[in-house]
Amino acid sequence: MKGVDNPVFFSDYKSGIICRLCSHYCRLRNGQTGVCGVNQNDNGSLRNLVYGHPAAIHSDPIEKKPLYHFLPGSTSLSLGTLGCNMQCPFCQNWHISQQSPASQTLNFVSPEEIVSSAIKNNCKSISYTYNEPTVFYPYARDIAIEAKKSGLKNIFVTNGIASAEVITDMAGIVDACNVDLKSTEKNFYKKLLKAPFTVLESLKLMRKLGIWVEITTLIVPDENDSVSIFEEISDFIADEMGVETPWHISAFHPDYKMPDKKRTSQKSLVKAFETGKKGGLKYIYIGNSSFKNHTLCPDCGYAVLERIGYSTYNNFKNPGICPVCNYKINGIWE
Ligand code: SF4
Repeated sequence: MKGVDNPVFFSDYKSGIICRLCSHYCRLRNGQTGVCGVNQNDNGSLRNLVYGHPAAIHSDPIEKKPLYHFLPGSTSLSLGTLGCNMQCPFCQNWHISQQSPASQTLNFVSPEEIVSSAIKNNCKSISYTYNEPTVFYPYARDIAIEAKKSGLKNIFVTNGIASAEVITDMAGIVDACNVDLKSTEKNFYKKLLKAPFTVLESLKLMRKLGIWVEITTLIVPDENDSVSIFEEISDFIADEMGVETPWHISAFHPDYKMPDKKRTSQKSLVKAFETGKKGGLKYIYIGNSSFKNHTLCPDCGYAVLERIGYSTYNNFKNPGICPVCNYKINGIWE
């Protein structure tokens, strides 16, 4: 594993090491693994147990991440490993995120092989997704650096509790993030997700560092579907990230430890959408549902990007400029 002694990853303390990959900052005695189950103190170094062992790799439309304002219509080689630093009872990817590396034997795939596969599949980017990329940051980072050499972009689909050190390190390596903003309440993170509440600070830092950010909120009935939470999320995006930041509202389906919970109602999705619109957000999308998700020019309403499922039809004549009224649509288009 390259970069094992990278000070971004860990530091020493008197009885062991502190993993610095995420804001849990686990203190690990020799042989111990942290909350994520995949980072271990191996005789005073941090050993990433999933390094080189993707649990899933697919070529996905970038719209599936979801990223709607970043290279629309392109394909992204998407990979994830086992492990996660949150324990969301409504996880929609729990088959891999909530497993420990001991539960599966996976082939070794080098960073170079991942990049070759992306090129072979005509991908413009590599997405680190399916589980939380921060927990496999040493692997993701090596792939991302290799990918940059071939002109590929890197995308993190993340829960936003990476440490500030890792986010700072991502600048110049990771081009875009889709960040889950599940709530604005500390207790929601602490009690339900068993995680520190650092996502708001992470988002602000990403913006400051120039990383392209889109935000996703999975709306879980009776957990985070109150109008006051929608308002707080919308206000945070408008005030701290900018009204041009895309907000993806996503419908929950019963899964993992919440098999008996109902799907998110259309009424709730529409309420969130209307709240965001009232708060001034210019680009709001509703995912996992049957709503139309075109990108409309905020000035004249023209559909600059039309979407049917995961297919995107690009109506720009000049990338990012509305062909009807010349309004500049925020995003990374080429
Ligand atoms: S990645 Fe986070 S949860 Fe995992 S060991 Fe490091 S600090 Fe702990």
